[in-house]
Amino acid sequence: MQKYGKPSAPLLSHKSHFFDENAALLQRQIGLAALYAEQPRRLRCKACDGPVSEVSFSKLGIDYLVCPRCGHLNGAFEDSDAFCSELYVEAGGAAYARDYSSADREAYRRRTEDIYLPKARFLVDALAAKGEDPNALSYADFGAGSGYFVSALRATGLTDIRGFEVSETQASLANEMAGEAVVRTHALGDTVSLAGEVDAKVVSLIGVLEHLQQPRELLAALKDNEAVSYLYISVPLFSPSVFIEAAFQDVMQRHLSGGHTHLYSESSLDWTCREFGMNRVAEWWFGGDVMDLYRSILVRLSASDKTAGAAELWTGMMKPAIDAMQEALDRRHLSSEVHMLLQFERHG
Ligand SMILES: [Zn+2]
Repeated sequence: MQKYGKPSAPLLSHKSHFFDENAALLQRQIGLAALYAEQPRRLRCKACDGPVSEVSFSKLGIDYLVCPRCGHLNGAFEDSDAFCSELYVEAGGAAYARDYSSADREAYRRRTEDIYLPKARFLVDALAAKGEDPNALSYADFGAGSGYFVSALRATGLTDIRGFEVSETQASLANEMAGEAVVRTHALGDTVSLAGEVDAKVVSLIGVLEHLQQPRELLAALKDNEAVSYLYISVPLFSPSVFIEAAFQDVMQRHLSGGHTHLYSESSLDWTCREFGMNRVAEWWFGGDVMDLYRSILVRLSASDKTAGAAELWTGMMKPAIDAMQEALDRRHLSSEVHMLLQFERHG
């Protein structure tokens, strides 16, 4: 099962701060890039573990290397403990209870519906097309965050769903919004052992694999866990957005920055599938590449009095064309993101 493209309008409305707060967001990324550049050199590919040494290009002061063996795009430095704790550890640490306003609940519902429900529906449709009864299966969502994907799975009518998350603040938001305990917390160091033991037919990793320090260990644990038949992933890809960012380094870098220190490619995903014994069952290619191009030019035009008048004209001309242009890229598998349903092939 193959699907291409996705309307950009919901994402544009959720990401309006990308346009309005360009300078502040870019400043944060420049600071993170400087911290990342202080980490030990990355010597092995994050996807295939082969040696990487030849620098392909630099962006915001970071060298990037394309793996000669699998085609994965690697940042030149390790995502060390120090780097990850700056990125992911919550300020103040402790989770705290709070009251959520109806505006909070409405924003949560809208984000679930606009961004996550289509991802959940695609999974359900793909399993059904494969001949499974989605309602009869059990699901485990790793890196569940604030529970958006778990909430979207529940909204499709599925019931046997567990979420796992390391952040207590995020898990408590998830459970508060769900009205019951759907996401449980665990220590970061327990992720791999949990994956090896979880009793679920379908495991999802939505925007998770690329943030793990040891993604290969997690995949190996899932492969060895015979309860798990399907893996549903969403990962960011080495796509035109990377080149747009390299060409517009004064514009907020949505894709290859911050916690994204490496990007999958179709070939590094193929390598991963071969190594960990998985087959591609269904895939949905869509991206923000053309939106990034549109935004980058808009931000640049708006930055100068001489070209500010062109910004509105650019919007009128380009905005209606974004989806069709992106779909042309998606059909060539040149998307900044892919969702894949993979099936473990276990012999004996
Ligand atoms: Zn590689």
